[in-house]
Amino acid sequence: MTHHIPVVEQILSANDRIADENRNRLDAAGVFALNFMASPGAGKTSLIEQTVRKLAGELRIGVVEGDIATSLDAERAAAAGAVSVQINTGGNCHLDAVMLSQALPQIALDKIDLLIVENVGNLVCPANFDLGTHRSVLVASIPEGDDKPYKYPGMYRGVNTLVINKIDLLPYVPFNMDFFQRGVETLNPGLKTFALSCRTGEGLDAWLDWIKAEIKAYRKI
Ligand code: MG
Ligand code: ZN
Repeated sequence: MTHHIPVVEQILSANDRIADENRNRLDAAGVFALNFMASPGAGKTSLIEQTVRKLAGELRIGVVEGDIATSLDAERAAAAGAVSVQINTGGNCHLDAVMLSQALPQIALDKIDLLIVENVGNLVCPANFDLGTHRSVLVASIPEGDDKPYKYPGMYRGVNTLVINKIDLLPYVPFNMDFFQRGVETLNPGLKTFALSCRTGEGLDAWLDWIKAEIKAYRKI
């Protein structure tokens, strides 16, 4: 007897329906949206801060911060210059499409070009819930270790962009990049990958150029 399986499928299909509605709202306003996922401490908020600071004057950026508690990350994003909204999930370990649909009316979508959603720090379930964003970005980091693709295959399979953050720590931390990237390639062949350091700025330009190119391509659709 597997009564729980249809229930899970219903929840996911309800989520997908609302995710499509979110995407339609974003598309109607011409807003390109990214969903940042990662373990806690990988540097999602730091990547948001750097992205907002470096693209200031070129792109208007909104940020939705998902956290179990506090508005610390929304304050950091706002200090960097983003229009920011905090969602507290009240214990929930991931964002879902309903939570984003409730946050969207708090942002003037006609006044932004790019929306970054920072998901709850968690490598297990966030990738299972489409939010209605256009790209999902996994932020990995060197101190987490090179075994994470092997331990969290669902997350590495469920995204279409990978950022490897904190590469400035490579000389100090045992991390075999070949082993890591072999794991990634097995799960998600050809995954678009950026290696960078939010602290030193190394590798950030390629990431920023990619965002600008993606937005340009999105506007042509
Ligand atoms: Mg954060
Ligand atoms: Zn969860």
